[in-house]
Amino acid sequence: MYALLPMPRTTPNLANTAANDPTCLINLRTSCFFCKLCFFASDKNKKAKIMNTSHLIVAMGLFGVIAACSPPSSEQARSPAPVAASTEESADLIITGAKIFTSDKQQPWAEALAIKDGKFVYVGDANGIVSYTGTNSIDLNGKLVIPGMVDGHSHPGYVNVENFGEVEGDTQEELLAAVKAYADEHPDDEWLRLCCWPTDMFVHGNEGPKKEVLDAVVPDRLVWFESATAHDFWLNSKALEKLGVDKNTPDPRPGLAMYARDENGEPSGWVKEGAGVQHFAKQFALTDDARKQEHKESVAETLQVLSRHGVTALFDAGNKGYGDLVYRVVSQLEKEGKLPLRYYGTYQIFTPERAKTAISEVKRYRREYGGDLLQFNSVKLFMDGISANQSAGLLEPYSGNTSYVGTTMLSVEELRDLLLELNNEKLDLLVHTIGDLAVRTVLDAVEAAQAIAKDDFYPRVTMAHLVLIDPIDLPRIKELGVICNFTPWWMGVEHDDVVRVFLGEERYSTMYQTRSVFDSGAVVSFSSDEWWGGDMLATYISPYLGMQVGHTRQYPKEWWETKDDGIRSPSNERLSLEQLVEGYTRNGAYQLRRENELGSIEVGKLADLVVLDNNLFEVDRHEIWKVKPSAVMMEGEVIQGSLPD
Ligand SMILES: [Zn+2]
Repeated sequence: MYALLPMPRTTPNLANTAANDPTCLINLRTSCFFCKLCFFASDKNKKAKIMNTSHLIVAMGLFGVIAACSPPSSEQARSPAPVAASTEESADLIITGAKIFTSDKQQPWAEALAIKDGKFVYVGDANGIVSYTGTNSIDLNGKLVIPGMVDGHSHPGYVNVENFGEVEGDTQEELLAAVKAYADEHPDDEWLRLCCWPTDMFVHGNEGPKKEVLDAVVPDRLVWFESATAHDFWLNSKALEKLGVDKNTPDPRPGLAMYARDENGEPSGWVKEGAGVQHFAKQFALTDDARKQEHKESVAETLQVLSRHGVTALFDAGNKGYGDLVYRVVSQLEKEGKLPLRYYGTYQIFTPERAKTAISEVKRYRREYGGDLLQFNSVKLFMDGISANQSAGLLEPYSGNTSYVGTTMLSVEELRDLLLELNNEKLDLLVHTIGDLAVRTVLDAVEAAQAIAKDDFYPRVTMAHLVLIDPIDLPRIKELGVICNFTPWWMGVEHDDVVRVFLGEERYSTMYQTRSVFDSGAVVSFSSDEWWGGDMLATYISPYLGMQVGHTRQYPKEWWETKDDGIRSPSNERLSLEQLVEGYTRNGAYQLRRENELGSIEVGKLADLVVLDNNLFEVDRHEIWKVKPSAVMMEGEVIQGSLPD
């Protein structure tokens, strides 16, 4: 049904193939933060299909996929300059016979390296390595090596913080019957905390779910019912009363973090974004020791999964008010020697009120939980919401609505002032920006702050998600030095997407201009932004899934809903694999201010590297997500898998 562009099986440089693609009819996955929607609840068949796929990827890893590893092309292997001195030098580890993608622009490919005292002391060709001696010398026999990776927006500490009763139904009646059944089966629960209602079942334009509908099935207990997007909450009257929310309660941010209201100004039961999130940690605190232990084990295991994927540093984009819970656990893991990567935490601003305390809270986290590996240098701000519940900030009205454009958490002036405070404190900022209004507001604020601070402007500002970018703003990103973080695994085709309706076809087919941003010269990093996946978590947080979907703008074939799901438009926004690896390594290190030590295989940098079982530059593009590390090294030590003897 769709015209699929034939892409070369081997794509050392996608520049030749991506630019002139026929545009297909495409869709997307609803974009968000903390998004658990896509494969949950709304499409049981898809979920089941993907669950099977999760077993498949494990199986693929076990059996190993043998790729034909041809030597790098002559261009790739172009005589890397030896960096070693001519006299004999000792090294702790010498690796030869590898295809090393370094992420170093000066020397993108190498075939040998030497490590001493946890750092690279040689990176280059086979001739140069002969001047190194060491007791440990390994021939990798043509295997691909890439730098240790950075996940620039993740939530490993939030895994298993939320604990829902899962209810499902294909119709409103079925869903509500499931809610009632759950209530009957759990008579002792004070709160019935449930998930997930499909957004498109209840949200139609400005209309959302109503408390009276929940009251009809559960009138006398507290009900907190979360949507599949995790950005909307449906409460019954009893729950609103418990929270003290009534006609006189102000919205934290009208139009964004808000209580939807009826014609009399009474809260309708539909609660959006930070207006709901602000109640989480208080109402749903993890108090029980067994639950706390379960959470800690989930965090430890998630970090191991990331480490096994080859991630050696990450940015934790926040924990919905559970910062202390999460960072206490991560700090404990560090002290117990169980933190397998560098972990950068943050403080989340999801109401304007929290902007006032963000800096002091980040500094408190630093004092109370900071360590060698766990550090705090950044604040996270939700500038807008998501398109699926019309809380994303747009420059033009939502489709079918003559005036409604959404809004932003802070104005240009408010964000400018926050940036100047961050400037004084030498802190960075990561901003959730979905709509083009949010992107514009951030760029305007950065420009205004830079005009005041001039050359002393310190904060590295990263915009995350960037679903819509106005063409006028695209060059401004590079000019203002703003970093862009995308979650590439969201970029496949999704057919039944409510966002298509809310944005309209034309805007919908301009989403995720990843290649344009990258090619503009802006720094682009990548991420998993995943915490919900259940059995699929290890798959969703895999950088190799991100690389495949960022490269193809298609989900893995095994997930397709039709014979050919097509390519997400615009198809010329597909990234090359080199760009994806650079984004996951060097650019991620830049986002974390570790570019002098991490992110590329270069002499003098910390010896983080990943040996892959299959060459992602040579494998079929639909098989990239199955690539796995056979060894992961951090500062010269093998921390996952093993090197060949
Ligand atoms: Zn996130």
